[in-house]
Amino acid sequence: MLRFAPSPTGDMHIGNLRVAILNFIVAKQRGERFIIRIEDTDTERNIEGKDKEILQILDAFGITYDEVVYQSANFSFHQNFAAKLLEEGKAFACFCTPEELEAERQKAKEQKHPYRYSGKCEHIGIEEAKKRGEPFVVRIKKPQAEITFEDIIKGKLTFAPNEVDSFVILRQDGRPTYNFACAVDDMLYDITLVIRGEDHVSNTPKQIHVRRMLGYDKEIAYAHLPIILSSDGKKMSKRDKASSVKWLLEEGFLPQAIANYLILLGNKTPTEIFTLDEAIEWFDLANISKAPAKFDIEKLRFINREHLRRLSDAELAKALEIHPSLAGLARIYLEEASTLKEIQAKLDAIFGKERDFGEFDKEALILKDIILNMELPESFDDFKKELMEHSGLKGKRFFKPLRILLTGAQHGPEISALYPYLKDHIKEVLR
Ligand code: GLU
Repeated sequence: MLRFAPSPTGDMHIGNLRVAILNFIVAKQRGERFIIRIEDTDTERNIEGKDKEILQILDAFGITYDEVVYQSANFSFHQNFAAKLLEEGKAFACFCTPEELEAERQKAKEQKHPYRYSGKCEHIGIEEAKKRGEPFVVRIKKPQAEITFEDIIKGKLTFAPNEVDSFVILRQDGRPTYNFACAVDDMLYDITLVIRGEDHVSNTPKQIHVRRMLGYDKEIAYAHLPIILSSDGKKMSKRDKASSVKWLLEEGFLPQAIANYLILLGNKTPTEIFTLDEAIEWFDLANISKAPAKFDIEKLRFINREHLRRLSDAELAKALEIHPSLAGLARIYLEEASTLKEIQAKLDAIFGKERDFGEFDKEALILKDIILNMELPESFDDFKKELMEHSGLKGKRFFKPLRILLTGAQHGPEISALYPYLKDHIKEVLR
């Protein structure tokens, strides 16, 4: 079984979406089940409604799943497993106060050492801990030996016992920490492969350690995806608007284009433009580059335009929320627009009443008057001829104001191509 494990703590980041897509693809390829696990253990950081929003985004991208589980529903399992580790002396109750720990952290910082737990409470047995009757957190004892695993993308990775450390698995109030809940749930759901972002690499030995201590000997495979950098080479943070899937959708990028782009990122693919179904045919984690990938919005725009071109007229009209008879008009604008929002802006300019004729005010008035009083012919050539004859205008003084009258814009595609779509509406607009 594979899983996508988002935290409902913020807008979905493109990095998360990439993780979801790749897990979905691999689950399909292997014919394994795929679940969504909402990681809501960090209750203070949960944001109401983000879980639903994540599921809606997955729907929009055609990412189907077998089940949605909430990690908080498994708290009793996490607590039972923590109790088992305590009983077996593989974990211990820690009474250190936040102030003590903070002081140790500060000290480590000053000495430029990574912070590690001091080990102070490690020798407090379970009986003694119970007798104290004070609140405590539960820490797992750090491993005795190095922990090594083979990452599908990064290769062999080894971590010293100190890097794993005796970390907290249960908070004072009995809620599990992320690493513990994640390790236990991956075991409970029989996860075979974890694909996630490389920001989790250092968590992996901790999670492996938890399962080993629990006596689970089935190996889970790991693939940690290189992070996505912004175009300036920095980590793409939440402040980069383009990192938000919601923002990209609002900007008029199609889900299929975003998915195409995220699969292409740092990957070797047989073609540049493809659908999710096509990617299921050939996708291979082994082709993902170890190097961080750079997010390039221009590339995404190019891919988006290609996917817009592939839409049928009915699909294009639906995506733009316009009458199907205008799909052809929208398609012409694909010469210069790359997103739904940009096409919408062009159509708004045409069908909106606003016109700025600049220096051609007088000419526009003459042309408008003639258009409103003539029978509009089928062909643009006839239209042009009649309009020229009646107005006596030609060249720039004819074409400039005419373009603005018809399209509301100074520049754009050939008006002869646009005319067939405009002629039935233009009088209404100009009136
Ligand atoms: N909740 C974690 C995240 O959103 C999931 C990490 C994992 O896949 O284990 O980053």
